[in-house]
Amino acid sequence: MPRASRPITFTCSWCYKDVTEERMPGPTPAYCLVCRDEARRSTEAGRAKRYRERQAEQDTRNWWDKPRPGRPRKG
Ligand SMILES: [Zn+2]
Repeated sequence: MPRASRPITFTCSWCYKDVTEERMPGPTPAYCLVCRDEARRSTEAGRAKRYRERQAEQDTRNWWDKPRPGRPRKG
């Protein structure tokens, strides 16, 4: 049985419009085609930002425990 796209109606989580789109069977998409790129960019940017913030936080927390390169200690 061939997998064919079919029109499905869903509410875009980005613009909150009801849209009907031809989609492959599967999970209902969260965003309409118009918003999908923007939403992905935004969520990826947000994720990267959170990731960087988390990394920075860990860096700060672990700063004192980290072996630091620099002067070799003598004696
Ligand atoms: Zn939308």
